[in-house]
Parts: sequence; structure tokens; C-alpha cells
Amino acid sequence: MNLFITELRDKEIQKDSMRFRRNMERIGEMFAYEISKELEYKEKKISTPLGIAKTTVPVSSIVNATILRAGLPFHQGFLNYFDNTENAFISAHRKYHKDGSFSIQFEHLSSPSIENKILILSDPMLASGASMEIAYKALLERGKPKHTHIVTIIGSNQGINYVKKHISMDNVTIWAGDVDDELTSKSYIVPGLGDAGDLAFGSKI
Ligand code: URA
Repeated sequence: MNLFITELRDKEIQKDSMRFRRNMERIGEMFAYEISKELEYKEKKISTPLGIAKTTVPVSSIVNATILRAGLPFHQGFLNYFDNTENAFISAHRKYHKDGSFSIQFEHLSSPSIENKILILSDPMLASGASMEIAYKALLERGKPKHTHIVTIIGSNQGINYVKKHISMDNVTIWAGDVDDELTSKSYIVPGLGDAGDLAFGSKI
């Protein structure tokens, strides 16, 4: 995973946006594998052409959720492994005010019920933690998950502490590929990698 994160951060390699998206996806795949080890499984007998094989399948359904738009390639990585999951999308963006401060504008939630399911909530950059809080709380309107995995590629110490303080951590696990110490006044992670959404999909107005 470190190699993929190194490439995501490298401003020369970032010029290849397909590689940037694919690296995010590959990291999603690796987290999916790690999270699969934490799931509860039950036995299942299946018929092969030659007999009955005992296998195991996850007990709970999974809902794969992400925050638009930077989360999309990362989300695809989870979906490549948890291919039968339901999906949720949260539209939220930063609205900057004249004094340079910003608030998170929550706009839209598209989600199935998450009641008693495993929720994987991914956002590649966990900077201030405010979007994650808003996304998680919006999702809770669709039920109480059995367990939530909050997953980020690069988190800031401040953002991770914010999430721990503002979200009840009962049945919540935070996963981070790397953690950086600094945030700029505009809440960009330093050294971070820049704007993940722009690097994946191009700049916006
Ligand atoms: N979102 C990004 O894309 N980058 C950051 O550094 C912080 C939030």
C-alpha cells in the first residue's frame, strides 16, 4: 500500500490521472481485503458438480458508502472485492466564506437502509473530519449499522481526533493508510497530496 500512496503523493506521477485513480482503487481493494478479515462468517454448504463443499460467507450485508466526488475511485476498489454490496453516496462540499473559513454543505444522500449492516464509509482524504461527521450522521438516518469501518487513504491527526470526538466510537473502526501532522488554514493536509478530486477528475470552478 505504501508504494501506491507514494505514487499518489508524487506531483510528477500525479500528472497521469488514470494512474492516480487506479492507485486509489488499488488501495480500496487492499483495505477491502483487510476489512474482510474482521467480518463475521457463517458456514454454508454448496453443491459442486462432484459433491458438497463446506464454505463460509459473511453473516451481515455490507453497505459501501463514499463521499462525492473524490471518493469514487476508492469506492470502486471496495466494490471490486465486495461485489454484491449495496451502495450509498453522499454529496457534500466545502463552501468557503469571505473570511477564508468554510462550512460543509451537505446536499444529497442516496442510500439503502443500513440497519444492522456493515457500513464501510470511505473518503480518501480525512482532513478536518467535518465532512466525515456530516456523512456519517446523514447515513444514521437510514438505520443503525452493526459496525462501521471509516476508511481513509491519508488522514490528518486533527481530523482523526475530530472524528473520534464527534462520533460515538461504539462499533466504529477507523482505518488510515497514512497519517500526516499538518493542516493548512484551508484544511488541506500537509504534505498530503493536494486536491484528490481534482487530481482524479480535473479541476472545477
Ligand atoms: N481534500 C483533499 O482532496 N485534499 C486535502 O488535503 C484535504 C481534503
